[in-house]
Amino acid sequence: MKPLSAKLPAQIVAENMAELQSPYTPQEAAVEASRCLFCFDAPCIMACPTGIDIPSFIKKIETENIIGSARTILSANILGASCARVCPTEVLCEGACVMVDRQRDPIKIGRLQRFATDYVYERGIDVLKAPAKKSGKRIAVIGAGPAGVGCAAELAQLGHSVVVFEKKPLPGGLNTYGIAYYKMKPEISLEEIAMVERLGVEIRCGIEVGQGISAARLQQEFDALFIGIGLGEGQAIRIPGEELHGVHDALDFIEEIHSKPLPEVAVGNSVIVIGCGNTAIDAITQAKRLGAQKGIVAYRRSEAEMSAYHFEYELAQHDGATFYFNVTPIELIGDEAGQVCAVKFVRTETSKNGQLTLIPGSEFTESADMVLKAVGQSKQSVWLTQNFPALRLDKRGVVERNPLTGQTSVAHLFAGGDCANGGREVVNAVGEGKKAAHGIHAFLGQSDIPAPRQPSRLGVNGDARGSGLEAPIRAHELEKLYFSEAEHHG
Ligand code: SF4
Repeated sequence: MKPLSAKLPAQIVAENMAELQSPYTPQEAAVEASRCLFCFDAPCIMACPTGIDIPSFIKKIETENIIGSARTILSANILGASCARVCPTEVLCEGACVMVDRQRDPIKIGRLQRFATDYVYERGIDVLKAPAKKSGKRIAVIGAGPAGVGCAAELAQLGHSVVVFEKKPLPGGLNTYGIAYYKMKPEISLEEIAMVERLGVEIRCGIEVGQGISAARLQQEFDALFIGIGLGEGQAIRIPGEELHGVHDALDFIEEIHSKPLPEVAVGNSVIVIGCGNTAIDAITQAKRLGAQKGIVAYRRSEAEMSAYHFEYELAQHDGATFYFNVTPIELIGDEAGQVCAVKFVRTETSKNGQLTLIPGSEFTESADMVLKAVGQSKQSVWLTQNFPALRLDKRGVVERNPLTGQTSVAHLFAGGDCANGGREVVNAVGEGKKAAHGIHAFLGQSDIPAPRQPSRLGVNGDARGSGLEAPIRAHELEKLYFSEAEHHG
């Protein structure tokens, strides 16, 4: 990335990029937990793609059993600490909370989850353990992002040996490199990964499958493989001027924020983001918080059609970003030094059949010294077909797999996360990795190994919920119990 000057003193940047939500104090957590109704058929559980037993972990906070609360969370979702920060809880668990129907504030499930998980991480308490009995099976996981880590941690708890191959220098994928800094710092992600390593998972970073080690060799050396490689590079916008200095992929900009001291991150004075999904919002809010004077998000369709969550949209507006709807860039204009200095737009309108048309004569130019492209990521179809030629992809270029087990068209290959679902939330990726772990477990004929603790469907009164299921569960039973609900509500 071409260096632009840093815009603000270090202290201001640190304040701007500090986590948006302060952690609960024990008293605040207890008060919030006491509001929960501990619903019998808790809709919040159904709305969680990893099926965390939410009323149970909240009850444990209320009764000051914080370690037990964290265990309930982390047994269901190994990345519970990061999901507490990055999940769009407004549209998942909190959006489903019965309090909303009663015109009251939903229980702050995300903040309570953070309270419990922070408690054990801050004290170095490991609440999960791998079983002493080992299966003797070895599984390779490709990609140390949320899907790969979710799969690896579950496999380790099922007694298998797991090696994760990650091409980047650090594990964690999006959680380490791609979350807006004010939502979660990379250290949280790395702490979670360290906990997964303590379960016995080996993570080898800086190794790209297909370069450092071949996919064929992995298939010879391991009993099964999980592919969790996420999505590829950001998409091009394919207009003149895209090669100019100051034009970047929004994900590269966000990754730079995670890769160097904040005051050294280059940001323009006038930043235009093309696209209006959640990545676009993360890019513009961070650009503003790093000191950009002007921040514009330009989207070719209407406000009603943007894919960004409304609460993210409001945050960006609060940070001073301006939104241009129904405009599309047609040229990036550079100065004599090859630096972008403006974007030429044309206005659009949507016809009744949903087609976009350009409005002749409506062109206008907006100055910018930084343009960030946030128009989606490419699929990994080239890498997939080169390394696993027998793998079937669907017409979108993502891996076809059984959504309940993660099993692909090749029996010993499993897949999950963005490379299989096309791009969803972190929590969906963790849930899919976990499902695939059980798919692998069943494929390897290991269903007599006790399954890890899972939420029970029993009620709160005299219940087994959150106490963990002590009896071994066979893979097909677990599938019925957990997978069907998680898939339906994910
Ligand atoms: Fe508690 Fe709301 Fe879940 Fe009911 S739906 S158990 S009130 S968090």
